[in-house]
Amino acid sequence: MSVVDFVIIGSGIAGASAAAALAPRASLAVLERESAHGYHTTGRSAALFSPLYGPAPFRALSVASRDFLTAPPADFAGHAILTPRGVLNIATQTQRPRIEALAAAAARLGVAHALVDQAACLEMCPALRADHVVAGLWEPGAMDIDVEGLHQGYLRQARRAGADIRLDAEVTALAREAGAWRVTLASGETLQAGAVINASGAWGDVTAELAGVAPLGLTPLKRTAFIIEAPEGADIGAWPAIIDADEGFDFKPEAGRLLVSPADETPSVPHDAWPEDLVIAECVERMNLAADIPVQRILRSWAGLRTFAPDRHPVIGYDRDAPGFLWLVGQGGYGVQSSEASGRAAAALALGEAFPADLLALGLTAEEISPARFRV
Ligand SMILES: Cc1cc2nc3c(=O)[nH]c(=O)nc-3n(C[C@H](O)[C@H](O)[C@H](O)COP(=O)(O)OP(=O)(O)OC[C@H]3O[C@@H](n4cnc5c(N)ncnc54)[C@H](O)[C@@H]3O)c2cc1C
Repeated sequence: MSVVDFVIIGSGIAGASAAAALAPRASLAVLERESAHGYHTTGRSAALFSPLYGPAPFRALSVASRDFLTAPPADFAGHAILTPRGVLNIATQTQRPRIEALAAAAARLGVAHALVDQAACLEMCPALRADHVVAGLWEPGAMDIDVEGLHQGYLRQARRAGADIRLDAEVTALAREAGAWRVTLASGETLQAGAVINASGAWGDVTAELAGVAPLGLTPLKRTAFIIEAPEGADIGAWPAIIDADEGFDFKPEAGRLLVSPADETPSVPHDAWPEDLVIAECVERMNLAADIPVQRILRSWAGLRTFAPDRHPVIGYDRDAPGFLWLVGQGGYGVQSSEASGRAAAALALGEAFPADLLALGLTAEEISPARFRV
């Protein structure tokens, strides 16, 4: 039987980033049920780094991840993880307060931004309709993320530091015995770990129940994405990502085509999510009000589960009532861009070290992301 300090359940971006941060200081095994590391939500994202996107704790975690993502160690991926994109949050007259609030948040976080007028919006994305968009919030520092490169980079770092990383390794039972966890796999093999880190995404509450730990009330929300041709003759390469101020839709260039999302949030059970035609059709209608982008054909579509805690904030920390059970869940729609700092925070809390000073300086405390807030 393998004996390790930590077992991490789930090798998505959350488990991988925590493994990279922990492996140099502890022995660990990362156990993934599927045959590929990014099979679920991590492999289905829109690959955008926009620290203004999401609730305050995610904004802090994303800002704190920026330096690493901008300049990872030379042997991390061998190429850039972030490439320039920029985000333009667009608003109608009635949506103006939304982008003004976003501008105030950007100022608080020290994120470069500018409120821009209609002419500037149409210059950045000529397909936008002048009878719809009246202003925008421009975030020049937003980037495209090479998600696969980032994910594999974390796993490589962890492996080099000695982590045992396994695919086709579903955890089926968890039992606390004599101050340690006995972790049973579907194959029948067992491992012993001082602590388990629950990074199982949409299955976060299911994994807790395996361990006899009370669930947190996590909700997986399905989000769809699809690829369409760029408008004929349009030079879309330099378009920013466009986000509707009410999150009714968003789109961005993707390898010469457009990646569009209805920004849907359909409550789901944990499963292998798939897209629905009606959701895509309604999105095309909404997008058509704001932009002249003819949609002849959907070239590809997919869906993934963005999993949220009841307050939509991340959950990172040991369970008060279950010794050696650390939650690393609720990454919602921001788990890639915030991954480096989330992994560091998880590692510090797992090892009982001080909460990272850069996060404290950004106004984020361990208490705000602790599962204890759900244990009254
Ligand atoms: C359409 C879409 C667009 C998005 N766009 C962005 C974006 O632009 N920027 C951004 O930062 N984020 C984005 N996100 C969100 C981001 O993808 C997620 O926050 C992130 O991938 C969550 O990572 P995770 O590791 O928690 O989950 P997952 O990647 O789902 O990993 C959890 C893993 O746990 C495994 N597992 C579960 N139970 C067990 C078990 N019993 N034993 C072993 N393994 C188990 C699962 O197989 C799974 O692989 C988007 C998401 C979607 C769906």
